[in-house]
Amino acid sequence: MMNDKDSGVTVLTPDDDFCFDCHPGLNCFTRCCRNVHIFLMPYDIIQLKHGLAMSSKAFLQQYTYTLMGKNGLPVVGLKMNEDEQKTCPFLGDSGCSVYESRPWACRVYPLQPESTKITEQKGLGYYSIMDVPFCLGFESGATSTVKAWLDRQNVPIYEEMESLFKNITTASFLSDKKIENRQIQEMFFMACYDVDLFRQFVFETSFLQRFDINTREVDQIRHDDTALYRFAMKWIEFGLLKQQGLTLKPHVMAAKKQALGIH
Ligand code: SF4
Ligand code: SF4
Repeated sequence: MMNDKDSGVTVLTPDDDFCFDCHPGLNCFTRCCRNVHIFLMPYDIIQLKHGLAMSSKAFLQQYTYTLMGKNGLPVVGLKMNEDEQKTCPFLGDSGCSVYESRPWACRVYPLQPESTKITEQKGLGYYSIMDVPFCLGFESGATSTVKAWLDRQNVPIYEEMESLFKNITTASFLSDKKIENRQIQEMFFMACYDVDLFRQFVFETSFLQRFDINTREVDQIRHDDTALYRFAMKWIEFGLLKQQGLTLKPHVMAAKKQALGIH
C-alpha cells in the first residue's frame, strides 16, 4: 500500500489484500445498479452486443447516449431507464442479466484505477477502493489480492483493449487540440464504437484497395470484432495522429506524392 502525499490518495499495489464480496442475499444487492453513470469503452460495446446478440448499431441506438469529450472526440455512456431510480436497463429480477458481458466499470468495482505522481513513477496498475457507504460487500470478511480479484473479473483483457484506445485519446497531439471537424468525429465514432458499420466501411468501399494489409489480417477482421477493433485503432492512429499504424499501397502513395508535388 502506498500513500501519495501530494494527492492524499492511498493506492493498493497488485499484491495488496482488500476485503470485499458481493452476492445475492445482501440487503444492498443490486442497489449499485441504479442511478450510476457508466461510460462504455469500445470493448464493452463489442462484448455487450455479442452478449445481447445485437448489431452494434441497434445496441448504440437502444442503450447508449453520446457526449463530446474535451478534445472533441465522442464518448459513449450507458442510458439508464427513465424510472425514478434510474435503473440500469440490464438489471433483471435476479441481478445483472448481462453478467458475462457486463462492462468494465461493473467488473472493476469496488476498485478504481489511480494515477498519481507515485504510481506514474512506479508504473501502471494501481487502484484505490471506492467509498460507497451503502455497499455491504466490504463487511463480508472475504479477502483477495487486487491482482486475483481483477483476474477473476476478467479485467486484464478489458484494460489491454482500453490501452489501445487511450494511446489515441491521450496522445500529445490531442493535448492542446479540440477536434471540431464533424467528419473526423463521425469516423472516430464509427471506428471505436460501431464495429459493424466499420466492417462495412472496410469491406464495401475502396478501403482495401488503398491500404497494404496482409491477407491473414483481412481474413481475421472479416469475422472477428476484437481483431477489427485492434485494426480500427491502427487506422485512427494513421489518420488522426499521422502515425504509421497502416501503410498505403505504393500506387496510392505515389498518387499522393504527385498531388503534393513530391518526387
Ligand atoms: S455488495 Fe456492493 S457491489 Fe454488491 S450488490 Fe451490494 S452494493 Fe452492489
Ligand atoms: S450492467 Fe449489470 S452489473 Fe452493471 S450496472 Fe447494469 S445490471 Fe448492474
